[in-house]
This record gives sequence, C-alpha cells and structure tokens, in this order.
Amino acid sequence: MAVVKLENVCKYFGSTPAVLDFNLESHEGEFVVLVGPSGCGKSTTLRMIAGLEDIDSGTLSFDGQPMQEVPVQDREIAMVFQSYALYPHRNVFENLAFALKLRRFPKSEIERRVRDAARTLDIEPLLGRKPRELSGGQRQRVALGRAIVREPAVFLMDEPLSNLDAKLRVSMRAEIAKLHRRIGVTTFYVTHDQVEAMTMGDRIVVMNGGVIQQIATPLTLYDEPVNSYVAGFIGNPPMNFLSGEIGEQGALIHGPGFEFRPEPSLRQQLARQNRRDVMIGFRPEHLKPQPAAAHSTMGTVRGAIELVEQMGSTTDIRFVVDGHALIAELPRDQTLVAKQPIELALLAGHLHVFDSETGKRLNAATSKNPADSVRSGAPTGAVRSGLSAASGRPG
Ligand code: ATP
Repeated sequence: MAVVKLENVCKYFGSTPAVLDFNLESHEGEFVVLVGPSGCGKSTTLRMIAGLEDIDSGTLSFDGQPMQEVPVQDREIAMVFQSYALYPHRNVFENLAFALKLRRFPKSEIERRVRDAARTLDIEPLLGRKPRELSGGQRQRVALGRAIVREPAVFLMDEPLSNLDAKLRVSMRAEIAKLHRRIGVTTFYVTHDQVEAMTMGDRIVVMNGGVIQQIATPLTLYDEPVNSYVAGFIGNPPMNFLSGEIGEQGALIHGPGFEFRPEPSLRQQLARQNRRDVMIGFRPEHLKPQPAAAHSTMGTVRGAIELVEQMGSTTDIRFVVDGHALIAELPRDQTLVAKQPIELALLAGHLHVFDSETGKRLNAATSKNPADSVRSGAPTGAVRSGLSAASGRPG
C-alpha cells in the first residue's frame, strides 16, 4: 500500500496538451477511478504513474519518495490492461509465475504466491489449463492474478473490463471491488464508463480535455457536481438541462415551459449573482407526476411526450420542452402515451444552477465529507458550449 501523490503534473505530446496541472494525493489503500471521455488524458496519467511516460513538469511520489527518476521495473507497481496478453503456449500457473521467474524468485516463493493468488481469484482448478481453454472472465482473472503475484504497492488498471460482454463486465466489476477490499492495495483504475466509476471508486477523478474537473466521492459528484460537464457526465439517465432566467431577486427561475421557486439558501445565492441568464439542471428521478401532493416541490415543467419507455421498475418518459429533449423517471404508469402533453413537478432542493457562460455551479456546496477535495477545473470547451437541443446535455 502506498500514498501516490501527483503535484502540478503536465504532459504534452508535441504541442498537444494531454494532461494539464494534475493534482491528486491518494489515501493508503484507496481505490481511485479516473473517468472521462476518450482522449481526456486518463491513460496518459496512469502511464506517468507507471513510469511508461515521462512527466514534462510537476512531481510524482510514492510514500513521499520522488518517482520520476525511478525506472518502471523498480516502481512497486503492477498493471492490468484491456488486453490480457497471456502467453498462449503457457498454462495458467506458468502465466502467473512468469514475471517472478524473470526476477529469479526462489521456486518455493513462486509456488506460494501463485497458489495464494489463484485461491484469492478462485482459479485454482484452472492452473493447468492453457488460455484458449478459458472463458473471457477467467482470462481476465488470470491477468489480475499476474498482477497480484507481484504483491505491488500500487495497482494500475486501464479499462480492464472493456473486452468483456456487458453481463460479465458487471460481475467482474464486483469481483475487482471485492478483491480490492481483500488485499487493500492502493489502486488507480481508468474507465470511460461512469457506472463503473460510480460503483467501484472510493473517489473519482472526472477529467475532460486533460483537465481535472472534480475529485470527489461518488455521491458528492452526483449530488453536487461542480460544473455542468460533471453534472452531464455522471448519472444514467443523464441530468436534464434548460436555459433559464433569474427573476424576483432569486425567488424565481423561469423559461419557456417551466417556473421553479428555489429554496431560501439557493435564493440568497442567486440574489447575489449579478446575472439574469443561467443554465439549470435537474435529474430524471427528481421529476414527479402531477398532482405531487405527497412531495415537497418547487414548481413544474411542461412539455409533450415523445416516447414512453417501460423499464419494469419505472416508466421513463422522453419529452420535449421548447425544443429540448428531457427525460423523467416516473413510477410505473401505463396510461402515459406519446404526443400527450405532460406537466411534472420538481422535488424541492433538487435544482442545480450553472453559469451559462462557464458552466460553473452556482449552488453553494453543502458536502461535509472530508474525502471530497472538490476542485473545479478550468472550464473546457465542452462546458462552455452550453446546451445541445438534440440531447438536452451540455456538449
Ligand atoms: P481513451 O479512453 O481513448 O484511451 P484517454 O482519456 O486515456 O483516452 P489518452 O490516451 O491519455 O486519453 O490521450 C490524451 C491525449 O493525448 C489525446 O489527445 C491523445 O490523442 C494524445 N496522445 C496520447 N498518446 C499519445 C502519443 N503517444 N503521441 C501523441 N499523442 C498522444
């Protein structure tokens, strides 16, 4: 277990910035997830921690020891990649033992480590098989085993599940989380899948355009995204966005098809803003059918139903408000049909307000979680560009 610290780390490929001013200090034994869209710099960050990529500026340390000059083989790390890259002509035991043999570990120590890893991963009965005789999930376990036998201080995983089918991915996700709990090694895990990030991470680093947007625990990211980029990226179905205008000194936010009356704390926050135009966001599960007497609500949004999706546990409604596509996750309902008008109430306390220029969140942060080092990255293109009418998401 190690504390990994990156300070002001930057990386350019020629004149292309890949990672800009990356700052993060892991906790010992923490599971840190780096998440973001393709090309946002996740893998480059991981490769810099591994020593596979030089750092242009800034510093990297493990437990306070500077790492920049330490070659890959001398860093106490083990990596797991998307491709398992198992040796096809060696059996599982030999695949697990290979790196230890190269390092001239005594035979008895190799035997102990391989057996321990196989037991941990539940692959003992497979030790005599060749990779072609294994399923995708079993191969991925062997790839994890190859990393475990090295007993590293830091695990680095780059999209290790993306070759697996959807169902297997979900079960391997749980396997990796359990494995981490059992062996407690500090882990950096790269994915573009926000569900993987939310379900696996102790803390999540959301990146975009090489810039950290926010570092926080899963629920803080969900409840208090620091900008519209994070708000739109985290959550499935995604957050709804609309352009709105502040009225009555913060007591009202309105626009075509909606009026919301913010709670007192948000009202005060908005009254202090020297602006009229904002971007608002609200999550699909916070919309309720009318009349919503059982709930405390803050106003309504009206539109026309485009599509009704029966999900089994919920009825999801895709509806259009002033040309913007929105989603509501409602209790099961078989009476709703396409082309109907619909009016939905928004639960009180669930309105997110963002600066329409920069995308920065205007609601005050309420998180008291000490694990959250919430920091908003410089607004990137995707944050600035505002609403997309087709999806209702920033982008
Ligand atoms: P993905 O999910 O697609 O793997 P990523 O978030 O891991 O993406 P990186 O691979 O870190 O992104 O790439 C960040 C940026 O650096 C991208 O613009 C990419 O094109 C660029 N880049 C990465 N590696 C190189 C390289 N060896 N040479 C030049 N540019 C590179």
